[in-house]
Amino acid sequence: MARAKKTEQAMPVDELEGMLTRLKLTAIRDQLDTLLDQAARADMTLREALTMLCAAEVARKDERRIQMGMSIAKFPCVRMLEGFEFEAQPSIDPKLVRELATSRWVANGDTVLLLGPPGVGKTHLAVALGREAILRGYSTLLRAHAEGRLEEKLTHLAKPKLLVIDELGYLPFEANAAHLFFQLVSRRYERGATLLTSNRSVAEWGGVFGDAVVATAILDRLLHHSHVVTIRGDSYRLKAKRKSGLVRDNTALAAAT
Ligand code: ADP
Ligand code: MG
Repeated sequence: MARAKKTEQAMPVDELEGMLTRLKLTAIRDQLDTLLDQAARADMTLREALTMLCAAEVARKDERRIQMGMSIAKFPCVRMLEGFEFEAQPSIDPKLVRELATSRWVANGDTVLLLGPPGVGKTHLAVALGREAILRGYSTLLRAHAEGRLEEKLTHLAKPKLLVIDELGYLPFEANAAHLFFQLVSRRYERGATLLTSNRSVAEWGGVFGDAVVATAILDRLLHHSHVVTIRGDSYRLKAKRKSGLVRDNTALAAAT
């Protein structure tokens, strides 16, 4: 088998760089000398060297795609599953979250509801699961309900493969907005996946939407193919504070929550 180092000089470098630019193989172009050195030092076969070059290009393209996906998604913070302490939140089944992390539910256009009181990690998990979806190439968008823009761009919100709506229920819907939300859910039904976080239980959603009939119609679609994670327990923030002595007892905890 021919060795990579023997062919290194076969073509003028500037011509090669020109072609790599034209083919948009910019990672190979930018690291050409280093990569070729590496191939020569490891005494790689041509096939091995080509594999290494392609791997470098694929890694850069993946990284770009993920960065782009993350900036389009507009996550409010950077959170990963690796940073989530399951021991701190025993009401969550780690197996279910690991299953959700495969993004199969996104492919299927399912719904995930993350329910629970403030501070228990709903947004953290929503962002982390959204990130997993982006890693797998699914277009993802996050909107906080409090942004009050759900009604603005129905077509825009109907598009992404995964729509994350954070903190449903902190603000009540106005009558018109509840109808628009119903339209959004209908359009996405069985096509786009939706992840919702809420501090209200599903039973309280009639109050959130201000209309029991609309709420039922929305829930009917959302719950049809759904995975519900109900988180019980103390706020992670307050737990951390309590550990550091800032909040002493449960009275303070209750008052702060
Ligand atoms: P929620 O959306 O339920 O109100 P957040 O997801 O915003 O709560 O969590 C509050 C803060 O605590 C965030 O900084 C989050 O990363 C952190 N947090 C919550 N639960 C955990 C956990 N189990 N492990 C690690 N960090 C957590
Ligand atoms: Mg939150």
